[in-house]
Amino acid sequence: MQKRPLALALSLLVVLAAAPLAQQGDDINARIRKEGMDNSQIMQTMHQLTDVYGPRLTGSPNFKAAAEWAIAEMERWGMTNGHLEPFDFGHPGWLNEKASGHIVSPVKDNLVFEVLAWTPSTRGTVTAKAVQIDLPTRPTRDELTAHLAPFASKVKGAIVLAGAHVKVPFDETPAAKRRTDEEVLASIARGYLPGRGGRFGGPAPTPREGALSNDDVTIAVDAFLRENGALVRVNDAGRAHGQIRAFDNPTYDPATALPTVVLRNEDYGRISRLLAQGPVELEFTIVNRDYPEGRTSYNAIAEIPGSDKANEVVMLGGHLDSWHAATGATDNAAGVAVMMEAARILKAIGVTPRRTIRVALWGGEEQGLLGSKAYVAEHFGTAENPKPEFAGFNGYFNVDTGTGRVRMATVFGPKEAADVLSTAFRPFEDIGLMGAIPTNSRRSGGTDSTSFNAAGLPGIGFGLDPMEYGTHTWHTNLDTYERIVEGDMKKSAVAIAAAVYALAMRDEMLPRFPQETMPKPADQ
Ligand SMILES: [Zn+2]
Repeated sequence: MQKRPLALALSLLVVLAAAPLAQQGDDINARIRKEGMDNSQIMQTMHQLTDVYGPRLTGSPNFKAAAEWAIAEMERWGMTNGHLEPFDFGHPGWLNEKASGHIVSPVKDNLVFEVLAWTPSTRGTVTAKAVQIDLPTRPTRDELTAHLAPFASKVKGAIVLAGAHVKVPFDETPAAKRRTDEEVLASIARGYLPGRGGRFGGPAPTPREGALSNDDVTIAVDAFLRENGALVRVNDAGRAHGQIRAFDNPTYDPATALPTVVLRNEDYGRISRLLAQGPVELEFTIVNRDYPEGRTSYNAIAEIPGSDKANEVVMLGGHLDSWHAATGATDNAAGVAVMMEAARILKAIGVTPRRTIRVALWGGEEQGLLGSKAYVAEHFGTAENPKPEFAGFNGYFNVDTGTGRVRMATVFGPKEAADVLSTAFRPFEDIGLMGAIPTNSRRSGGTDSTSFNAAGLPGIGFGLDPMEYGTHTWHTNLDTYERIVEGDMKKSAVAIAAAVYALAMRDEMLPRFPQETMPKPADQ
């Protein structure tokens, strides 16, 4: 408790005693709103996470430096217990340092591409003929072997375009960038969180018997190209307007792959058409670096300590790691910055929460929710096999769908849990946060809140205005600071700060499924 002159303390007591409870809540919400709107640090946080430390590929030194910066920043804001919690990533870190590519004959021009993660460097500059091979869709292993055999002598010493050029159709009906209040309310009434507003590929069709997975095809083609002396593999980005999504070599082992780039669809098409007329020569220079110490990655943690319920916790966070084609602004520096800002606002207005408020910034999300899964297992266990901290858990707020303002939430738990959140959100309907719905799914996947759901704990995920997330920035070379919508980010931070504080102050815990009605784990 801060020291105050007695008279002031007494007069404050009188004022507080006279104010109805709701008014005190209104006062806190007004202070949260003012701090978040007038003194926001959110774009400064975004600048650090993207321009200074991006891309933040799991296992890379950039990732660890970003995590250390975030902890130092939160401690500078007055938060405590900042630390890194290690987990086993299991793969070396990897970063692309330099890459350039050109068409050198029959014309001269630059190529636009990204390097596939966990692939090797070229040996200096490689200049070679281009060879294109078509690839069958989901073949069996025997079919693929038979298909590739005639190319064995042709790919030697070549830069190989793997697959036919993708013809991207013109988009007549682009997805809406915002949802109306009516649409959000309809989603809440249906009890359904809509998708991310873009085209994420949809559910994979059921493969026929014996068909290889896409990863297995990639691995087999890589092995074939290496065995037969190809120099560089080129994949078609397959998206319009120069968008490139670059993921990883599925083995995470550069020794199993060859230098590999994802070339923008327009350049891939041009080379394909030129190859139909005659020889084409390409040139690539790629410098990648491995970081053996990246086998251990980290979650970054910092807290606002609680008071009379300090051993209970309300958590908020997002994944700090990103893919590498850009600086990972909307995926997911945005979610991290919103949650850091929510905690900063609470520190800045000087509240003392009853429960401990803990920010967690995860590693390894893009490779399978690795950091949050490890954290939940280490700290909480599961409903079936709980650790002592399981009992005092009061919810984990997560943002991971871009830069839009938060519109609705899902919470793993009974209807009463969603009602508590909806009540906390109500003062923020004017900025677009319309309510919460319950879910009883313990299936993990998509983002880190589901690691909590899977354990039987109340993970809280948000549906956002889609903005350009699914259509433009998600995992692409366009995911930069410039695509961040500051006003939306501020609104999200303010509303989440208020909801986190509300959960930290309630007499009762956030309602959870009792043992008798706890849904079965999804993997059983
Ligand atoms: Zn993400």
